[in-house]
Amino acid sequence: MRKLFHFDCAREVYVADACVITCYDARFDAAIRKFLKRRGVALFDHVKIPGSAKALAAAEGDAERDFVLRMVRLSLALHHPPRAVLIGHNDCGAYPGASPDTVAADLARAAEFLRSSEPALPVECYFADFDGIYDIA
Ligand SMILES: [Zn+2]
Repeated sequence: MRKLFHFDCAREVYVADACVITCYDARFDAAIRKFLKRRGVALFDHVKIPGSAKALAAAEGDAERDFVLRMVRLSLALHHPPRAVLIGHNDCGAYPGASPDTVAADLARAAEFLRSSEPALPVECYFADFDGIYDIA
């Protein structure tokens, strides 16, 4: 190997403020990062998947659902986040033509599945729109 870039990274293993699942749509990156920081989430395990937690809302036995659950559980095992945060967004390519309510309903279903799989893990759910971040009750 040939070194191309020098940068000193911290070696200590960290405790994450949260395990965060979002879509990889970069339009919402700045808003989400600022929102999370405001809520005390600065250092986090970021699971970026097209459609955010859509896979977690899938039916029993879905391979992608199991894969995403494994990613969350690995975050729990390695970095002990005290909460999970699921954030969907408007105009998501994984939900062509869908209303915000449809995406929000999927996020609620995903949160319910995550809570049933990891009962000790608090799960928060939000919807990112072009004018801000909304709470999903
Ligand atoms: Zn998206």
